[in-house]
Amino acid sequence: MNNFRLESKELLVDESLLYTGNGYIGVRGNFEEGYPESYSTVRGAYIASFYETIDVEYGESAHGFPKTAQKLINVFDPQSIKIEIDGEQFSLFQGEVLNFHREMNIEKGYSLRDVEWVSPKGHHLKLEIKRMTSFETLELMLIDYTVTSVNYSGMIRVNSSIEGDVSNYTNADDPRVASKHAKVLSIAEKEIGDQSVFMAGVTNRSKLKMAVTMAHDITMDYKILDKSIEGHAQLQISEGASVTFAKYIVYTDSIRHSNLSGQGKRIIQNAVMKGKEYWYAAQKKYLDNFWKYAKVDVEGEGDVENSLNYNIYQLLASVGKDIHSNISAKGLSGEGYEGHYFWDTEIYIIPFFTLANPTIAKNLLMFRYNTLPYAKEEALIMGHTKGAKIPWRTISGSECSAYFPGGSAQYHINADVAYSNIQYYLYTLDLDYICDYGYEILYETARLWLEIGHFNDQGQFFITGVTGPDEYTAIVNNNYYTNAMAGYHLQWTVKFSQLLKERYPSSWEELVNKLQITENEINSMDRAGQRMFLPYSDELGINLQDDGFLNKKEWDFENVPKEKYPLVLNYHPLIIYSHKVLKQADTVLCHFLLDNAPDNVIQNSYYYYEKLTTHDSSLSPCVHSIMASRINNPEKAYHYLMDTLRLDLDNLHGNTKDGLHIANAGGAYMAIVYGFGGLRIKEDGLHLRPTKPPHWSKLTFRLNFRGALVKVTLGDQLLIETDQPIDILIDNKEYHIENRMETNYHERN
Ligand code: BGC
Repeated sequence: MNNFRLESKELLVDESLLYTGNGYIGVRGNFEEGYPESYSTVRGAYIASFYETIDVEYGESAHGFPKTAQKLINVFDPQSIKIEIDGEQFSLFQGEVLNFHREMNIEKGYSLRDVEWVSPKGHHLKLEIKRMTSFETLELMLIDYTVTSVNYSGMIRVNSSIEGDVSNYTNADDPRVASKHAKVLSIAEKEIGDQSVFMAGVTNRSKLKMAVTMAHDITMDYKILDKSIEGHAQLQISEGASVTFAKYIVYTDSIRHSNLSGQGKRIIQNAVMKGKEYWYAAQKKYLDNFWKYAKVDVEGEGDVENSLNYNIYQLLASVGKDIHSNISAKGLSGEGYEGHYFWDTEIYIIPFFTLANPTIAKNLLMFRYNTLPYAKEEALIMGHTKGAKIPWRTISGSECSAYFPGGSAQYHINADVAYSNIQYYLYTLDLDYICDYGYEILYETARLWLEIGHFNDQGQFFITGVTGPDEYTAIVNNNYYTNAMAGYHLQWTVKFSQLLKERYPSSWEELVNKLQITENEINSMDRAGQRMFLPYSDELGINLQDDGFLNKKEWDFENVPKEKYPLVLNYHPLIIYSHKVLKQADTVLCHFLLDNAPDNVIQNSYYYYEKLTTHDSSLSPCVHSIMASRINNPEKAYHYLMDTLRLDLDNLHGNTKDGLHIANAGGAYMAIVYGFGGLRIKEDGLHLRPTKPPHWSKLTFRLNFRGALVKVTLGDQLLIETDQPIDILIDNKEYHIENRMETNYHERN
């Protein structure tokens, strides 16, 4: 991939595309040796959930607005390695580049940069540079150099450092990245030890500490400078021969480690002792196990399979693997959206992990449980009397949204979190989880519906003054998505109450006391769930996005030029809000998630809203792909899948430099499995409704279904193979499969 991409703009995108991450650390794919001064770069390394606290400034404030927020910070830079021969420094921007190739090896879990270079004096070298962030030991990163000399004999000087002079990226003109607070981390300690060096830092305000411990598998002379620690070595090389060396980096931080230096040293000693081949093998082993359940195969169209699995890999590389972290909108690949966690997790990412790696899915669910105290506090701050309000965007758990019409007003996030818990339960049947954690999340968040909604005089439940998923429409009454999802949330809260009462009577008693549950409150939830108002237009045969949607002015799609999109960067929100124009799927998304509207309403709504949707949000095309499969339009499904698959790989939104669009990556997987596979998780079991683009000869995906490895292949026939007996519904018909079943499936176009 990306041979000879050396323009500044391209490199910025590649920094994101070729970042190496493991869910704890993420390091952008910058060149170790740096760039010419005229080049802009976002040189970044991030630790999951490692944040600075910043003040939120408002021109006009109001009660309950968040006063502080968190931002993910750029931590000490471990990347710098400079190679010098005969007084010349290796750089792709001088001399002659004969070959230059970069790739992300998603089976082995490292990035590779291959270069063949002739220096200005004519010395000819080949360099192979691999980078890996270990999945086995999350603190560990490895940078591995092999330098081969074609025509030079002599010394090579290696200069490798940790840089402490770091700052965050800012851009005052783009609301999707931070505008201030660039420099927030100070160096607190520098030390040269026996076999490693150590540099610790502390944030100015959150007072969180982090440290880098560095070692090499060659002997180095280290020296401490004002803002860095540098190591130097001289290596002998002769014509036709190679030298190799590896840099070991270990990150520790005060959220997870009690002794940054002691633990850092222990981990690095173990890492160097085991040697790099051990770490490559461990990485491969971890990934073999991951791909066993996650891999998607596509036959019949060149690059689709690679692009798809690339996106899937990014989910794994970005997702938090401990209780402190979740998955941010850009993963750990960049600073867009300041490293915040959104509903993206529950609606676009947990669906993948639920099917492919339920342990990671559970960890993501647990993040909301662990941060529930903040959500309860937020409900009170806003003026509710009880319940929990899940933050629209957060790192540590408190609300960071400074623009309430498009942020805090998105109450639907409460239902989204509940939805992912319910889906996880229906897929795994893990009622213990619900009893120990899930129920509390569901109950506290369901309380808010009773607080924000009300029964009208006909006894229908209305939810008013909220924003749905579509951010080009704000503060509306009876947003269909919110109401329908809240209804599902309320009904399941009532169902779980009944289930726990019957199956876990003593835990139920404890929950009743802990949460102060009353019969009365459960009855109100039941009634609100059943009497939920769902806006519908008889005339159009569609669900209405909200009560007032049809009264808005038409958007002039024909005459608004392409450069005016995304609208969020070119129009005042009020202009956008007053028109029938959507940033992203809203009603259509709900039809996917709940799959309980009549077929003709689903279809009419799809075609109605599709015309009004700009897809200015990367969370949109994938939903349109899934639902195009649902309404038997494989051409459209394929078209939207391509937009999803290539969104970052081709920088379709022009902002991949700020980080990968991780929800979109989850959406790519969903467009296959939920779209073409037609997978739905319902109370009566796991459903498939298979179809595929006609020009693909075969599509295969896998699932981890209650411990069984299930392989679904759509070729001329539908083939299901499983290593344990399973029950499954195909086109609503029940099947029991012992280990293999082959059957016809419908052509749907
Ligand atoms: C979308 C939100 C999303 C956020 C982070 C915004 O552009 O409109 O729905 O949660 O990006 O990905």
